[in-house]
Amino acid sequence: MRIVLLGPPGSGKGTQAVKIAAKLGAAHIATGDLFRAEIADETELGLLANEYIAHGNLVPDEVTNALMRERLARPDAEKFVLDGYPRTIDQAGALETALEGLGRPLDGAFLIDVPDSDIVERAVGRLLCNSCGAIYHLRFKPPQVAGICDVCRGILSVREDDTPSTVRHRLTVYHRITAPVLKFYEERGKLTRVDGVGAPQEILERLLAELKRE
Ligand code: AMP
Repeated sequence: MRIVLLGPPGSGKGTQAVKIAAKLGAAHIATGDLFRAEIADETELGLLANEYIAHGNLVPDEVTNALMRERLARPDAEKFVLDGYPRTIDQAGALETALEGLGRPLDGAFLIDVPDSDIVERAVGRLLCNSCGAIYHLRFKPPQVAGICDVCRGILSVREDDTPSTVRHRLTVYHRITAPVLKFYEERGKLTRVDGVGAPQEILERLLAELKRE
């Protein structure tokens, strides 16, 4: 199968994409990972992409589309789960054209639907261990001793970009840019919305049930 996974930041899209790809025996293709590999290799593309990524901006469409065209043409992309692409309407069009050219049309796009209020609630209250990186949540996964990591006894703190206002800003950007992408797939009868509220395993099962229907 060839699918696109869509969802707001903090919807657990990346985690689900890895699991679904393994289940389908498909390539997990995440633009963020591809860019990070280019940056690590210090390629020309990596150096350019880093200018945008470092400031939290999207890499220009033409650069992203060229990278993905090349990646999707590889033999292992016969089946894939796309994660983080397309993020703009221009990218959705470019993906459609590239896949048509390859004779590998998309089976569907799946949206992990999580209300903004839940995203803010999940992100706000998240605690990170300064020493080992373990993640906790004041409500959903509290540490045994307040402020102390269960694993390594390190000090827990709140991530700087997890304040309600920054989380809301990330969501605003997501809705502005992604709404047209959802419409793009909806118009083609290719969008399936999956309830993204619940435990990760439950959401995975919902996604797999929808995939079976395809
Ligand atoms: P991610 O790992 O998906 O959060 O991506 C990390 C960063 O890579 C993003 O903040 C963007 O700067 C860039 N990026 C990833 N995917 C795309 C895309 N489809 N279009 C443009 N930039 C992207």
